[in-house]
Amino acid sequence: MPELIADIAVFAPLRQLFSYRVDESMRELIKPGQGVRVPFGRRRIGGVVVALRSGSSERLKDVSELIAQETLLDPPLLELCCWAADYYRYPVGMALRSALPGGLTSEGSGVAILSDFLYRSAEGSELPRGRKQREILDFIRDAGEVTLTQLRENFATPHAVLERLVEQGFLEKKQIEKLRDPFLSDPVSADAPLELTNEQQVAFERLQQAVNAKSFSPFLLQGVTGSGKTEVYLQAIAEVLQLNRQGLVLVPEIALTPQLVGRFRARFEADGYRIAVLHSGLSDGERFDSWRQISRGDIDIVIGARSAIFAPLQKPGLIIVDEEHESSYKQGEGFRYNARDLALLRGQKVGCPVLLGSATPSLGSAFRCASGQMEKLELTRRAHAGELPKVDLVNLSGHPPEQLISTQLQEGISTTLSAGQQVLLLLNRRGFSPFLLCADCGQTFRCPNCEITLTYHQKAQHLRCHYCDYSIMPPVACPRCEGHRLEPEGFGTERLEQEIAELFPAARIARMDRDTTSRKGAHQKIVRKMLAGQVDILVGTQMIAKGHDFPGVALVGVLASDAVLNLPDFRAAERAFSLLTQVAGRAGRTGGGRVLIQTYSPDHYALECAAAQDYATFYEQEILFRQELGYPPVGHLANLVFSGIGEQKVQKVAEALTAYLFDVGGPVEILGPSPCPLFRLRGKHRVQILLKAEKRSQLKRLLDYVEHWKVPTGVSLTIDVDPLDMF
Ligand code: ADP
Ligand code: ZN
Repeated sequence: MPELIADIAVFAPLRQLFSYRVDESMRELIKPGQGVRVPFGRRRIGGVVVALRSGSSERLKDVSELIAQETLLDPPLLELCCWAADYYRYPVGMALRSALPGGLTSEGSGVAILSDFLYRSAEGSELPRGRKQREILDFIRDAGEVTLTQLRENFATPHAVLERLVEQGFLEKKQIEKLRDPFLSDPVSADAPLELTNEQQVAFERLQQAVNAKSFSPFLLQGVTGSGKTEVYLQAIAEVLQLNRQGLVLVPEIALTPQLVGRFRARFEADGYRIAVLHSGLSDGERFDSWRQISRGDIDIVIGARSAIFAPLQKPGLIIVDEEHESSYKQGEGFRYNARDLALLRGQKVGCPVLLGSATPSLGSAFRCASGQMEKLELTRRAHAGELPKVDLVNLSGHPPEQLISTQLQEGISTTLSAGQQVLLLLNRRGFSPFLLCADCGQTFRCPNCEITLTYHQKAQHLRCHYCDYSIMPPVACPRCEGHRLEPEGFGTERLEQEIAELFPAARIARMDRDTTSRKGAHQKIVRKMLAGQVDILVGTQMIAKGHDFPGVALVGVLASDAVLNLPDFRAAERAFSLLTQVAGRAGRTGGGRVLIQTYSPDHYALECAAAQDYATFYEQEILFRQELGYPPVGHLANLVFSGIGEQKVQKVAEALTAYLFDVGGPVEILGPSPCPLFRLRGKHRVQILLKAEKRSQLKRLLDYVEHWKVPTGVSLTIDVDPLDMF
């Protein structure tokens, strides 16, 4: 008699599915997308049912148990994950696992539902005796209501103190179901939809139609900085909610976009809509909690970074990918998916429109529009008063290299400060200086694991590798010649900050980069200070170019634009154009902004176009170059990276695969093997082969061979399909 067989993707790095027998007792419960535990070798591991069929169960083991009663992944989501695993050449079980909240897929029992406590001050105004107690009570009285989670962020160990305050009647305490998210607990005041500009109205009406059609259609919303893309998102989402469907909004990095979350909350929370924010600060338990609320249908809008593309919404009515050009949508290790591309696919599978938004669309998205695969909606002007800023290129040739800030920029800063306005300065390199150099013998200091120079951090007093975090104390004397003239060479944001402080001693200066924002809430604090006008000059890396609307900024200065332009990557021009246009867009949000870009290559089209804020011309030039060399979006790439100990050995293995691929033949260009730009990383040697194909099917065929090729032990091979970063 045929029995029910489940094909299961187990949570292990294995490509194939495994078959198990489903016992009578489980028949009713088990469906595709269900999480299960199965015997595997001597252990038991988790997995997801991918398909069910009837067949002979001879020699098959039984499914042991369900991980959860409800199905973990509905059919479109399951299909999406399986497709992505296949496309990005990643073990399907591991891909499914990364789509699920950590707590659910780890070994051991289920996840406890988290609880939190809400504290409210009781009647009365007298104060407790202890200083700590008074501080906490003051804090709670100021805020009205505070959760334990919030208190924990502000005080070291409040629990015992709180209990005493409750006992003494100063506080009331209530248990609430869930930990409140820091993104969702700050109060916001409700706002109403703005009256749309003509251009916004046109874009909105197209989206309205598409949302109501409840079928897949892809859109690119290309709008200059400050053109009011977010308002279009908000009104389109309102339309989705009307239809009893849900909105999914992807952003490059949640921590950098508190303002966007705030705007969604202001618009929708007062009407009773529920928003979930998925971000990396959530614990496993919190993540699981949100995940369950979403899958139960208790959430109307999900806002999240990359991995939120897998959020288990039942009926998405619109998927938005904000700042779609950002490379953070691509996961850099493990399951190397691109959430922007998966958004389009998910829209196809569930049948809903997908909206990609940017002031500087990725070349790929612009190419799709040009070839008619995606509809372009355009916002060419700023939404209110502010004209686009005036951008000037400052030619650095002949300029003394030790003078980081040109006379022109210095004057610009002075004028802006005297007018009581704010300045943004972009230098895309953190630390004090990119290296320390012995002035006597030329010795520099390199990372023993990665072979790149160690960045000098003055305040922290160390030399640090920005790839593997290796760090040492800066030596007092040169280890080679014993000279004492070890000097910092070049500039990072830390040094820029110091330099600026010397030039403008009266100015209030803040710095925003990975070093100053690593502590929780630190980034938001800088943003708040900027908004409150407590900062005159904000110095920072590309972080300052993202997601903020600082109305007080009148001048933006870009210090070393050539560093971005000269990266050894075919996308260098695209990156530079996009970064410069985005940062320039931070100037003059309320009118009359000015931008100064210092450069050694003022004739480069990426800079000229960024200065003119002219996307169309940039695209025309850049696409020609891509066409000529067969690079994406015209051609298709996959990068094969070998890594292991021993240069010779890794190189040999890479050569062997190259030879094999040449044998297999086909029209795909095989470039390499060649050392990766970072040829040593974390102690391993790295060699890459780049595959470049005109057609996707050709690339796929060759990758099938790669996948079946046996990699010798001691060397590992990673396949990166549609790579973005090839270091
Ligand atoms: P973008 O996301 O395109 O950079 P935003 O959505 O942040 O632009 O809008 C920039 C500013 O313009 C915001 O302060 C926003 O409130 C305002 N704005 C947007 N649309 C309108 C409108 N239709 N009328 C008035 N102000 C608007
Ligand atoms: Zn290193």
